[in-house]
Amino acid sequence: MSFDLAARLAARRAENLYRQRPLLETPQGPQVVVDGQPLLAFCSNDYLGLANHPEVIEALRAGAARWGVGGGASHLVIGHSSPHHALEEALADLTGRPRALLFTTGYMANLGAVTALVGQGDTVLEDRLNHASLLDAGLLSGARFNRYLHNDAVSLAKRLEKATGNTLVVTDGVFSMDGDIADLPTLAREAKAKGAWLMVDDAHGFGPLGANGGGIVEHFGLSLEDVPVLVGTLGKAFGTSGAFVAGSDDLIESLIQFARPYIYTTSQPPALACATLKSLELLRSEHWRREHLNVLIRQFRKGAEQIGLELMDSSTPIQPIMIGDAGRAVLFSQMLRQRGLMVTAIRPPTVPAGSARLRVTLTAAHSEAQVQLLLEGLADCLQQLGAEPNHA
Ligand SMILES: *Cc1c(COP(=O)(O)O)cnc(C)c1O
Repeated sequence: MSFDLAARLAARRAENLYRQRPLLETPQGPQVVVDGQPLLAFCSNDYLGLANHPEVIEALRAGAARWGVGGGASHLVIGHSSPHHALEEALADLTGRPRALLFTTGYMANLGAVTALVGQGDTVLEDRLNHASLLDAGLLSGARFNRYLHNDAVSLAKRLEKATGNTLVVTDGVFSMDGDIADLPTLAREAKAKGAWLMVDDAHGFGPLGANGGGIVEHFGLSLEDVPVLVGTLGKAFGTSGAFVAGSDDLIESLIQFARPYIYTTSQPPALACATLKSLELLRSEHWRREHLNVLIRQFRKGAEQIGLELMDSSTPIQPIMIGDAGRAVLFSQMLRQRGLMVTAIRPPTVPAGSARLRVTLTAAHSEAQVQLLLEGLADCLQQLGAEPNHA
């Protein structure tokens, strides 16, 4: 008996699904050097351009000088320091929730929240296009696990009829690979009508969405009763690292008691919390970042339509170009790269079979001239491919 890893890897390669890690040799930003090649990149989730902001860098530096580097221990032992606590209070204020709890990563926040809230005898219902961490969390919880059709309240309602025990409805706020926004007012109404709780992972909504960057719940004006469990991540528009769950005092106390990915891990470096406090301030107050981003989104959509690309129904910085076939998506991405443009091809199993795509993301750090260069590159590649990209 042996692990035939070579055969498994060869099969993945043959299906055009083999993954490689581009080596980034510069900080995040529109202009990068990847594998030795200067490129104009459209694939970072640093939507507001804060990951390499001088004030955020300075806050990290000053935080390290004051607090040292390591978190030292779990939050429950001696790892919960003043900057962590101050950040939790600032995140509660941003979300308009009574409290927020800091996690080390979004993956862990999702695992922690779902497994602390439901278990055997309960039900978890998820959008079929939810982020992998939410799907993994549902499976790990031991609750009855069911997926409803994408953003479909009717499909959810049918499953709610059959739900037993405590029922958690879980959805992305902004869908990470499609860019569309969950129909939260309707989903919240369905969940409430059945006494279920709605949990929203708004990793891609905080920053770009809402008048003050408060994400999808600010966008729709949804209360704690509508969305009892709200998750955000700090590695995207906040430009730092980590995640949080916001909600009632009882929710947060329950997570501190029962969320294993919260309890059994070392707290993040306190200096990182100092950096996030600064980026949170910029995220809330510098409205020009959101406004400029929206200008670029409109510019890109209009230009892409003019060259005959079929975009997905997205008003967010995530603007995927549907290709279909995985091999063709990789080829398209390589052709762009030859022209100095970096756009990642996203393939199964990250997205459903037959829906490989180029995931274009725009950030406030891009200029209109750079978006124009992307559009020209796309038009050029399309012409060379000699066919509609949607009919592979
Ligand atoms: C990125 C992402 C996560 C994971 O967050 P990390 O902090 O990177 O672990 C969770 N949910 C969604 C929707 C994401 O896009």
